[in-house]
Amino acid sequence: MDCIFCRIVAGEIPAEIVFQDAEFLAFHDIHPQAPVHILIVPRAHIASMNEVTDRQKSLLGKLLLTAKKVAEKENIAEKGYRLTINCGPDGGQIVPHLHLHLMGGRRLADLMC
Ligand code: AMP
Ligand code: ZN
Repeated sequence: MDCIFCRIVAGEIPAEIVFQDAEFLAFHDIHPQAPVHILIVPRAHIASMNEVTDRQKSLLGKLLLTAKKVAEKENIAEKGYRLTINCGPDGGQIVPHLHLHLMGGRRLADLMC
């Protein structure tokens, strides 16, 4: 298993976990671009948005709702936050395991952060 996020899910690599349930894990980004920068990942390995199928609609919905819950838990919901999914090289995706960036805690003015 050489996927870094699968290894975090498996507990083989440490991460600062802020939320987990049967389907998702949320942990702090190792190189935060904002005061709050959390990654929400499905436990199942899905390489990117390009690999998501129609049958995984509910997983995508739950991914967004999990981000909303984590934003509330981190006390950034009221002031707002940004959710980003990078896909492929042009999208800036580095880790090939689907993940949602939750960023907040400051005014995010430019494109990404
Ligand atoms: P992306 O560019 O969308 O693929 O984002 C990958 C993110 O994963 C980057 O923001 C990295 O800082 C973050 N990252 C990489 N390795 C780790 C790790 N071991 N623990 C937490 N975050 C990580
Ligand atoms: Zn993986």
